[in-house]
Amino acid sequence: MFNKILIANRGEIALRILRACRELGIKTVAVHSTADSEAMHVRLADESVCIGPPASKESYLNVAAILTAATITGADAIHPGYGFLSENAAFAETVEAHGITFIGPTAEHIRVMGDKIAAKAVMGKLGVPLVPGSDGALPDLAHAVKVAEHIGYPVLIKAAAGGGGRGMKVAQTPAELPEAWSVARTEAQAAFGNAEVYMEKYLDNPRHIELQILADNYGHVVHFGERDCSLQRRHQKLLEEAGSPAITEQERDTIGHSATEALKGLGYRNAGTLEFLYQDGQFCFIEMNTRLQVEHPVTEMVCGIDLVKEQIRIAAGEPLGYEQEDIVFSGHAIECRINAEDPVNFMPMPGEVTVFHPPGGLGVRIDSALYTGYKVPPYYDSMVAKLIVHAPSRPEAIARMRRALAEFAIGGIKTVIPLHEKILKDPQFQAGEYSIHWLEHFVAKG
Ligand code: ADP
Repeated sequence: MFNKILIANRGEIALRILRACRELGIKTVAVHSTADSEAMHVRLADESVCIGPPASKESYLNVAAILTAATITGADAIHPGYGFLSENAAFAETVEAHGITFIGPTAEHIRVMGDKIAAKAVMGKLGVPLVPGSDGALPDLAHAVKVAEHIGYPVLIKAAAGGGGRGMKVAQTPAELPEAWSVARTEAQAAFGNAEVYMEKYLDNPRHIELQILADNYGHVVHFGERDCSLQRRHQKLLEEAGSPAITEQERDTIGHSATEALKGLGYRNAGTLEFLYQDGQFCFIEMNTRLQVEHPVTEMVCGIDLVKEQIRIAAGEPLGYEQEDIVFSGHAIECRINAEDPVNFMPMPGEVTVFHPPGGLGVRIDSALYTGYKVPPYYDSMVAKLIVHAPSRPEAIARMRRALAEFAIGGIKTVIPLHEKILKDPQFQAGEYSIHWLEHFVAKG
């Protein structure tokens, strides 16, 4: 097992990883920007190293500074968390070249899955069902017109290097295609330095359902069931559930089998998530994330497993030690992402937290790096807490989440807690009847 792990992240996920390390008896190194010297992950770590100024580019994305921090502290592994360098193949490669273990998949798998066109091609070959669309990148608009005619409108132009919902444009009709084409390409070039795009059929009413996978270094692969992440605003998830209110046990087994077989074929290792759109009883693969996801706790709650500890164990070379049959699902879990934003217009609201009183009680979990007196810096993601509940059934989980949200007191900054409270009391949400478009309509209604 590792002696010391450097956590190349900040906020709640740095704390989440730190907690797993501590329980495993592993020492921790926190890295931080000058804006984060008072952050909780820095306060709780065994050692900390300042890696640069506030801008992420100069700190949390600064490969040289992070590697130097790992070397001078003698860390034998790096956990990248999510975001920042977690899906940067060159980073994984450089870490390993320095004799330090990267807690995640191989650089090659990160690279393949980071290119969504390549990812779809690979997964399709391995028997995973795909969203109908272009066969690879679109060389020019004329080609796009042809593909759209073939698959039928509406269509979606997507960036090969896409992420965070950027570089994605819908064309409802042939007349809208030229603009969607050029806007998507311009956005993709600006956001990712790569204008390459592809096309998918735009599904009108799908759910976003993803599967959590773990694979060890010896070819054993298991899945931990699905998460329903359909509640999104601007393609960003806001509330997630495990399991999905929409799929049956049989469907879970079928898609789970297809996904684990594919990853065995790929020789994948460590944690990964396969994202699907689900409509009319069909799963269509859209992308794979080669890292821990923000919403991993809902899976942990229903499976009774610590995914971060598993990642660390696997990276240290331990075998999985259990089979698919050993994974038992119990009850229902919901996560609400608490963003420091105005709940009506979604303007980010950094500032000083004057009161922080998290809810408690049976089946309530808070993953957050906030504390009273903490100043939320304006430089990073607005998510400041995750509130997760677990209960024997979905209705009980909803009741528990409503109770927990009502108890949650965060003073000094605005958060989206009031929006979550509205969602949880909505009859359609309570019936589990929602697609990826539901939240946008719900928010627009006011
Ligand atoms: P990103 O990596 O930018 O998050 P994804 O491919 O994961 O992009 O898609 C993000 C979200 O966009 C999905 O969860 C879904 O809501 C929507 N989306 C993506 N592809 C399609 C599609 N073919 N039809 C309808 N909605 C889609």
